[in-house]
Amino acid sequence: MRSRNGWRAGYQESGPSGSEGGSVKPDLATNRGARFLPYKARGYLTTLRKWQHSGKKKGKPGIPTASNHPTLYAGTYTLDLDELDLRKSFVRLKVYTGSTWAWVQYPTRYNRYFEQRRAEEGWEQESPKLVLGKRSAAIHFLQSKTIKARKIVESKRDPDLVTVAVDLNVKQLAVITVRQHGKITQTRFVSDRGLDQARFRHLGRIAKKQWQSGQAVKGERSNQQLWRHIRRQNTDAAHKTARAIVEVCERYPGCVLLFERLRTIKAAGGSKSRRRNRKQANQLKGKINQLAKEKAYAKGVVSVEVNPHGTSQYCSRCGAKGMRFSLMAGQRVTGKGGKLFYCPSCHYECHADFNASCNVHRSFFREFHWEIRAP
Ligand SMILES: [Zn+2]
Repeated sequence: MRSRNGWRAGYQESGPSGSEGGSVKPDLATNRGARFLPYKARGYLTTLRKWQHSGKKKGKPGIPTASNHPTLYAGTYTLDLDELDLRKSFVRLKVYTGSTWAWVQYPTRYNRYFEQRRAEEGWEQESPKLVLGKRSAAIHFLQSKTIKARKIVESKRDPDLVTVAVDLNVKQLAVITVRQHGKITQTRFVSDRGLDQARFRHLGRIAKKQWQSGQAVKGERSNQQLWRHIRRQNTDAAHKTARAIVEVCERYPGCVLLFERLRTIKAAGGSKSRRRNRKQANQLKGKINQLAKEKAYAKGVVSVEVNPHGTSQYCSRCGAKGMRFSLMAGQRVTGKGGKLFYCPSCHYECHADFNASCNVHRSFFREFHWEIRAP
Protein backbone atom coordinates (compact mmCIF):
# COMPACT_ATOMS: atom_id res chain seq x y z
CA MET A 1 0.00 0.00 0.00
CA ARG A 2 1.09 3.51 -0.58
CA SER A 3 0.59 6.54 1.53
CA ARG A 4 0.03 9.76 -0.29
CA ASN A 5 0.65 13.30 0.64
CA GLY A 6 -0.28 16.44 -1.17
CA TRP A 7 1.77 19.45 -0.24
CA ARG A 8 1.06 22.63 -1.91
CA ALA A 9 2.75 25.82 -2.73
CA GLY A 10 0.26 28.49 -3.53
CA TYR A 11 0.94 31.34 -5.83
CA GLN A 12 -0.91 34.57 -6.26
CA GLU A 13 -2.56 35.45 -9.49
CA SER A 14 -0.94 38.62 -10.51
CA GLY A 15 -2.46 38.93 -13.95
CA PRO A 16 0.64 39.41 -16.04
CA SER A 17 0.11 41.31 -19.27
CA GLY A 18 1.22 38.38 -21.36
CA SER A 19 -1.55 36.07 -20.25
CA GLU A 20 -4.52 38.36 -20.20
CA GLY A 21 -7.70 36.51 -20.77
CA GLY A 22 -5.82 33.30 -21.12
CA SER A 23 -6.48 30.52 -18.72
CA VAL A 24 -3.71 28.41 -17.34
CA LYS A 25 -3.71 25.36 -19.54
CA PRO A 26 -1.04 22.75 -19.67
CA ASP A 27 0.59 21.90 -22.91
CA LEU A 28 -1.64 19.41 -24.68
CA ALA A 29 1.13 18.03 -26.81
CA THR A 30 3.07 16.77 -23.84
CA ASN A 31 0.35 16.37 -21.25
CA ARG A 32 -1.55 13.13 -21.24
CA GLY A 33 -3.57 14.11 -18.22
CA ALA A 34 -5.18 17.17 -19.73
CA ARG A 35 -6.54 15.44 -22.79
CA PHE A 36 -9.81 14.49 -21.17
CA LEU A 37 -10.54 18.00 -19.97
CA PRO A 38 -12.40 19.09 -23.13
CA TYR A 39 -14.51 15.94 -22.85
CA LYS A 40 -15.49 16.94 -19.35
CA ALA A 41 -16.75 20.31 -20.53
CA ARG A 42 -18.61 18.70 -23.43
CA GLY A 43 -20.20 16.15 -21.13
CA TYR A 44 -21.42 18.90 -18.84
CA LEU A 45 -22.96 20.83 -21.75
CA THR A 46 -24.78 17.73 -22.96
CA THR A 47 -26.32 16.97 -19.56
CA LEU A 48 -27.24 20.63 -19.15
CA ARG A 49 -29.03 20.67 -22.50
CA LYS A 50 -30.88 17.48 -21.62
CA TRP A 51 -31.95 18.98 -18.31
CA GLN A 52 -33.20 22.16 -20.01
CA HIS A 53 -35.20 20.09 -22.50
CA SER A 54 -36.74 17.91 -19.81
CA GLY A 55 -38.34 20.96 -18.18
CA LYS A 56 -37.67 19.65 -14.70
CA LYS A 57 -37.00 22.09 -11.91
CA LYS A 58 -34.87 19.88 -9.77
CA GLY A 59 -31.55 18.27 -10.54
CA LYS A 60 -29.74 21.03 -12.36
CA PRO A 61 -26.35 19.65 -13.23
CA GLY A 62 -23.52 21.38 -11.42
CA ILE A 63 -20.56 22.92 -13.12
CA PRO A 64 -17.85 20.30 -13.53
CA THR A 65 -15.57 20.52 -10.57
CA ALA A 66 -11.92 19.99 -11.01
CA SER A 67 -11.64 16.65 -9.33
CA ASN A 68 -9.32 15.74 -12.15
CA HIS A 69 -6.78 18.45 -11.85
CA PRO A 70 -4.27 18.78 -14.66
CA THR A 71 -0.96 17.20 -13.86
CA LEU A 72 2.07 19.28 -14.66
CA TYR A 73 4.44 16.98 -16.44
CA ALA A 74 8.01 17.92 -17.22
CA GLY A 75 8.16 20.53 -19.91
CA THR A 76 5.15 22.50 -18.77
CA TYR A 77 6.61 24.01 -15.65
CA THR A 78 9.87 24.87 -13.98
CA LEU A 79 10.38 25.54 -10.34
CA ASP A 80 13.48 27.05 -8.80
CA LEU A 81 13.43 26.46 -5.09
CA ASP A 82 17.16 26.76 -4.67
CA GLU A 83 16.93 30.50 -4.19
CA LEU A 84 17.90 31.38 -0.64
CA ASP A 85 15.46 34.24 -0.36
CA LEU A 86 12.07 32.57 -0.65
CA ARG A 87 10.39 35.84 -1.60
CA LYS A 88 12.36 35.85 -4.82
CA SER A 89 11.40 32.37 -5.95
CA PHE A 90 9.08 31.98 -8.91
CA VAL A 91 7.21 29.22 -10.61
CA ARG A 92 7.25 29.23 -14.37
CA LEU A 93 4.22 27.84 -16.15
CA LYS A 94 3.54 27.31 -19.78
CA VAL A 95 0.20 29.01 -20.34
CA TYR A 96 -2.08 29.42 -23.31
CA THR A 97 -2.67 33.09 -24.00
CA GLY A 98 -5.51 32.56 -26.45
CA SER A 99 -3.29 32.38 -29.48
CA THR A 100 0.08 31.03 -28.43
CA TRP A 101 1.79 29.17 -25.65
CA ALA A 102 4.11 31.23 -23.50
CA TRP A 103 6.15 30.87 -20.36
CA VAL A 104 4.86 33.07 -17.57
CA GLN A 105 6.37 33.58 -14.16
CA TYR A 106 4.18 33.58 -11.10
CA PRO A 107 5.35 34.58 -7.63
CA THR A 108 5.12 31.76 -5.13
CA ARG A 109 3.91 31.89 -1.57
CA TYR A 110 5.04 28.84 0.28
CA ASN A 111 6.38 28.24 3.75
CA ARG A 112 9.26 26.47 5.43
CA TYR A 113 7.12 23.44 6.29
CA PHE A 114 6.69 22.78 2.61
CA GLU A 115 10.44 22.81 2.14
CA GLN A 116 10.89 20.50 5.14
CA ARG A 117 8.36 18.08 3.78
CA ARG A 118 9.96 17.97 0.36
CA ALA A 119 13.33 17.18 1.87
CA GLU A 120 11.99 14.42 4.14
CA GLU A 121 13.53 11.03 3.54
CA GLY A 122 11.73 8.09 2.00
CA TRP A 123 9.18 10.11 0.08
CA GLU A 124 9.05 9.87 -3.67
CA GLN A 125 8.21 12.91 -5.74
CA GLU A 126 5.37 12.69 -8.20
CA SER A 127 4.34 15.12 -10.88
CA PRO A 128 2.75 18.19 -9.32
CA LYS A 129 -0.86 19.09 -9.99
CA LEU A 130 -2.38 22.43 -10.77
CA VAL A 131 -5.44 23.11 -8.63
CA LEU A 132 -7.53 26.10 -9.55
CA GLY A 133 -9.85 27.44 -6.89
CA LYS A 134 -12.39 30.23 -7.07
CA ARG A 135 -9.99 32.91 -5.96
CA SER A 136 -6.65 31.24 -5.86
CA ALA A 137 -4.51 28.78 -7.67
CA ALA A 138 -2.14 26.31 -6.13
CA ILE A 139 0.31 23.70 -7.20
CA HIS A 140 0.02 20.52 -5.19
CA PHE A 141 3.18 18.47 -4.92
CA LEU A 142 2.29 14.84 -4.50
CA GLN A 143 4.62 12.63 -2.57
CA SER A 144 4.30 8.93 -2.11
CA LYS A 145 5.99 6.39 0.08
CA THR A 146 5.83 2.61 0.21
CA ILE A 147 4.99 1.39 3.69
CA LYS A 148 5.82 -2.02 5.06
CA ALA A 149 3.73 -3.09 8.01
CA ARG A 150 2.76 -6.32 9.69
CA LYS A 151 -0.78 -7.54 9.59
CA ILE A 152 -2.74 -7.20 12.80
CA VAL A 153 -3.26 -10.96 13.09
CA GLU A 154 0.51 -11.45 12.99
CA SER A 155 1.12 -8.65 15.47
CA LYS A 156 -1.38 -10.07 17.92
CA ARG A 157 0.61 -13.30 18.21
CA ASP A 158 3.73 -11.38 19.25
CA PRO A 159 4.01 -11.62 23.08
CA ASP A 160 6.14 -8.44 23.21
CA LEU A 161 3.62 -6.42 21.25
CA VAL A 162 3.21 -2.82 22.36
CA THR A 163 -0.28 -1.35 22.00
CA VAL A 164 -1.03 2.35 22.03
CA ALA A 165 -4.65 3.11 22.89
CA VAL A 166 -6.38 6.43 22.40
CA ASP A 167 -9.57 7.58 24.06
CA LEU A 168 -11.00 10.69 22.43
CA ASN A 169 -12.92 13.12 24.56
CA VAL A 170 -14.05 16.70 24.72
CA LYS A 171 -12.01 18.36 27.46
CA GLN A 172 -9.13 15.91 27.34
CA LEU A 173 -8.93 15.65 23.57
CA ALA A 174 -7.00 12.42 23.77
CA VAL A 175 -5.84 10.15 26.55
CA ILE A 176 -3.03 7.98 25.21
CA THR A 177 -1.94 4.87 27.11
CA VAL A 178 0.82 2.43 26.15
CA ARG A 179 0.63 -1.18 27.24
CA GLN A 180 3.14 -3.99 27.07
CA HIS A 181 3.07 -7.40 28.80
CA GLY A 182 -0.29 -6.50 30.30
CA LYS A 183 0.98 -3.36 32.06
CA ILE A 184 0.42 0.29 31.30
CA THR A 185 3.89 1.73 30.72
CA GLN A 186 3.15 5.25 29.61
CA THR A 187 0.26 7.70 29.74
CA ARG A 188 -0.22 11.03 28.02
CA PHE A 189 -3.09 13.44 28.35
CA VAL A 190 -3.70 15.90 25.54
CA SER A 191 -5.81 18.74 26.87
CA ASP A 192 -7.92 20.98 24.65
CA ARG A 193 -6.47 24.08 26.37
CA GLY A 194 -9.83 25.74 26.73
CA LEU A 195 -10.87 25.17 23.12
CA ASP A 196 -14.26 23.76 24.06
CA GLN A 197 -15.11 26.76 26.21
CA ALA A 198 -13.84 29.27 23.66
CA ARG A 199 -15.81 27.59 20.90
CA PHE A 200 -18.93 27.65 23.03
CA ARG A 201 -18.55 31.42 23.48
CA HIS A 202 -18.00 31.95 19.75
CA LEU A 203 -21.06 29.89 18.92
CA GLY A 204 -23.03 31.87 21.46
CA ARG A 205 -22.06 35.07 19.67
CA ILE A 206 -23.09 33.59 16.34
CA ALA A 207 -26.46 32.53 17.75
CA LYS A 208 -27.04 36.00 19.18
CA LYS A 209 -26.16 37.75 15.92
CA GLN A 210 -28.42 35.44 13.97
CA TRP A 211 -31.24 36.14 16.38
CA GLN A 212 -30.68 39.89 16.06
CA SER A 213 -30.68 39.87 12.28
CA GLY A 214 -33.83 37.78 12.14
CA GLN A 215 -34.78 35.66 9.17
CA ALA A 216 -31.74 34.44 7.30
CA VAL A 217 -31.34 35.51 3.69
CA LYS A 218 -31.38 32.50 1.43
CA GLY A 219 -28.14 31.82 -0.34
CA GLU A 220 -26.17 34.15 1.91
CA ARG A 221 -23.74 33.10 4.58
CA SER A 222 -23.63 34.86 7.91
CA ASN A 223 -20.85 35.23 10.45
CA GLN A 224 -18.34 33.94 7.97
CA GLN A 225 -15.30 35.21 9.82
CA LEU A 226 -16.37 33.67 13.11
CA TRP A 227 -17.13 30.34 11.49
CA ARG A 228 -13.78 30.40 9.72
CA HIS A 229 -12.07 31.12 13.01
CA ILE A 230 -13.83 28.17 14.68
CA ARG A 231 -12.96 25.90 11.79
CA ARG A 232 -9.34 26.90 11.90
CA GLN A 233 -9.10 26.38 15.65
CA ASN A 234 -10.63 22.92 15.26
CA THR A 235 -8.29 21.91 12.46
CA ASP A 236 -5.31 23.17 14.39
CA ALA A 237 -6.30 21.23 17.52
CA ALA A 238 -6.90 18.10 15.43
CA HIS A 239 -3.46 18.28 13.82
CA LYS A 240 -1.70 18.92 17.12
CA THR A 241 -3.49 16.07 18.89
CA ALA A 242 -2.82 13.68 16.02
CA ARG A 243 0.82 14.73 16.11
CA ALA A 244 0.97 13.96 19.85
CA ILE A 245 -0.50 10.49 19.25
CA VAL A 246 2.03 9.72 16.53
CA GLU A 247 4.89 11.00 18.69
CA VAL A 248 4.01 8.36 21.28
CA CYS A 249 3.76 5.66 18.59
CA GLU A 250 7.15 6.56 17.14
CA ARG A 251 8.83 5.62 20.40
CA TYR A 252 7.64 2.02 20.07
CA PRO A 253 8.53 0.60 16.64
CA GLY A 254 6.18 -2.15 15.53
CA CYS A 255 3.39 -1.05 17.84
CA VAL A 256 -0.31 -1.08 17.03
CA LEU A 257 -2.49 1.99 17.40
CA LEU A 258 -5.94 1.38 18.89
CA PHE A 259 -9.02 3.54 18.55
CA GLU A 260 -12.58 3.10 19.64
CA ARG A 261 -14.96 2.73 16.78
CA LEU A 262 -16.57 6.15 16.68
CA ARG A 263 -20.26 6.29 17.29
CA THR A 264 -22.53 8.66 15.48
CA ILE A 265 -23.92 10.81 18.22
CA LYS A 266 -26.66 13.25 17.48
CA ALA A 267 -26.36 16.41 19.52
CA ALA A 268 -29.63 17.08 21.29
CA GLY A 269 -30.90 19.10 24.20
CA GLY A 270 -29.65 22.39 25.58
CA SER A 271 -29.41 25.74 23.86
CA LYS A 272 -28.64 26.22 20.19
CA SER A 273 -25.00 27.10 20.82
CA ARG A 274 -24.65 24.15 23.19
CA ARG A 275 -25.99 21.76 20.57
CA ARG A 276 -23.74 23.27 17.95
CA ASN A 277 -20.75 23.05 20.25
CA ARG A 278 -21.39 19.34 20.84
CA LYS A 279 -21.66 18.78 17.13
CA GLN A 280 -18.34 20.53 16.58
CA ALA A 281 -16.74 18.47 19.34
CA ASN A 282 -17.96 15.26 17.72
CA GLN A 283 -16.61 16.36 14.37
CA LEU A 284 -13.30 17.17 16.00
CA LYS A 285 -13.10 13.61 17.34
CA GLY A 286 -13.56 12.25 13.85
CA LYS A 287 -10.94 14.59 12.50
CA ILE A 288 -8.36 13.59 15.12
CA ASN A 289 -9.09 9.93 14.46
CA GLN A 290 -8.62 10.33 10.71
CA LEU A 291 -5.49 12.49 10.90
CA ALA A 292 -3.82 10.31 13.51
CA LYS A 293 -4.43 7.21 11.39
CA GLU A 294 -2.93 8.85 8.33
CA LYS A 295 0.05 10.31 10.14
CA ALA A 296 0.72 7.01 11.94
CA TYR A 297 0.47 5.00 8.73
CA ALA A 298 3.09 7.21 7.11
CA LYS A 299 5.39 6.07 9.94
CA GLY A 300 4.48 2.41 9.41
CA VAL A 301 2.07 2.10 12.34
CA VAL A 302 -1.17 0.30 11.62
CA SER A 303 -4.30 1.33 13.49
CA VAL A 304 -7.23 -0.80 14.58
CA GLU A 305 -10.74 0.14 15.62
CA VAL A 306 -12.04 -1.79 18.58
CA ASN A 307 -15.46 -2.40 20.04
CA PRO A 308 -16.29 0.68 22.13
CA HIS A 309 -19.06 -0.95 24.14
CA GLY A 310 -18.79 -0.03 27.81
CA THR A 311 -15.23 1.30 27.77
CA SER A 312 -16.18 4.09 30.13
CA GLN A 313 -18.42 1.97 32.37
CA TYR A 314 -16.35 -1.01 33.38
CA CYS A 315 -13.36 -1.12 35.70
CA SER A 316 -10.11 -1.51 33.80
CA ARG A 317 -8.54 -3.32 36.73
CA CYS A 318 -11.07 -6.02 37.65
CA GLY A 319 -13.76 -5.74 34.98
CA ALA A 320 -16.69 -4.97 37.28
CA LYS A 321 -19.18 -2.28 36.48
CA GLY A 322 -18.25 1.01 38.11
CA MET A 323 -19.63 4.50 38.45
CA ARG A 324 -18.68 8.06 37.69
CA PHE A 325 -18.26 10.66 40.40
CA SER A 326 -16.73 14.05 40.97
CA LEU A 327 -15.43 15.86 44.00
CA MET A 328 -17.29 18.98 45.03
CA ALA A 329 -15.88 20.80 48.03
CA GLY A 330 -14.38 17.53 49.25
CA GLN A 331 -17.70 15.74 48.90
CA ARG A 332 -18.16 12.83 46.54
CA VAL A 333 -21.00 13.45 44.14
CA THR A 334 -21.92 10.46 42.03
CA GLY A 335 -23.40 11.33 38.69
CA LYS A 336 -23.14 10.87 35.00
CA GLY A 337 -20.99 13.91 34.29
CA GLY A 338 -18.30 12.99 36.82
CA LYS A 339 -14.68 13.21 35.81
CA LEU A 340 -13.54 10.40 38.08
CA PHE A 341 -14.21 6.70 38.08
CA TYR A 342 -14.87 4.47 41.05
CA CYS A 343 -15.08 0.69 41.17
CA PRO A 344 -17.24 -0.67 44.05
CA SER A 345 -15.76 -4.16 43.64
CA CYS A 346 -12.02 -3.47 44.00
CA HIS A 347 -12.28 0.14 45.25
CA TYR A 348 -10.17 1.41 42.37
CA GLU A 349 -10.36 5.15 41.74
CA CYS A 350 -8.92 7.02 38.77
CA HIS A 351 -9.59 9.58 36.08
CA ALA A 352 -12.55 8.37 34.04
CA ASP A 353 -10.90 9.04 30.67
CA PHE A 354 -7.78 7.17 31.76
CA ASN A 355 -9.93 4.20 32.76
CA ALA A 356 -11.62 4.29 29.34
CA SER A 357 -8.27 4.43 27.58
CA CYS A 358 -7.05 1.36 29.51
CA ASN A 359 -10.25 -0.44 28.56
CA VAL A 360 -9.48 0.09 24.87
CA HIS A 361 -6.53 -2.31 25.32
CA ARG A 362 -8.84 -4.75 27.11
CA SER A 363 -11.26 -4.58 24.21
CA PHE A 364 -8.47 -5.26 21.71
CA PHE A 365 -7.20 -8.30 23.63
CA ARG A 366 -10.76 -9.47 24.33
CA GLU A 367 -10.44 -9.43 28.09
CA PHE A 368 -13.11 -9.00 30.78
CA HIS A 369 -16.30 -7.56 29.33
CA TRP A 370 -15.05 -8.00 25.76
CA GLU A 371 -14.23 -11.71 26.12
CA ILE A 372 -15.55 -13.88 23.32
CA ARG A 373 -18.38 -15.86 24.87
CA ALA A 374 -19.25 -19.39 23.89
CA PRO A 375 -22.53 -19.42 21.98
ZN1 LIG B 1 -12.49 -2.82 39.89
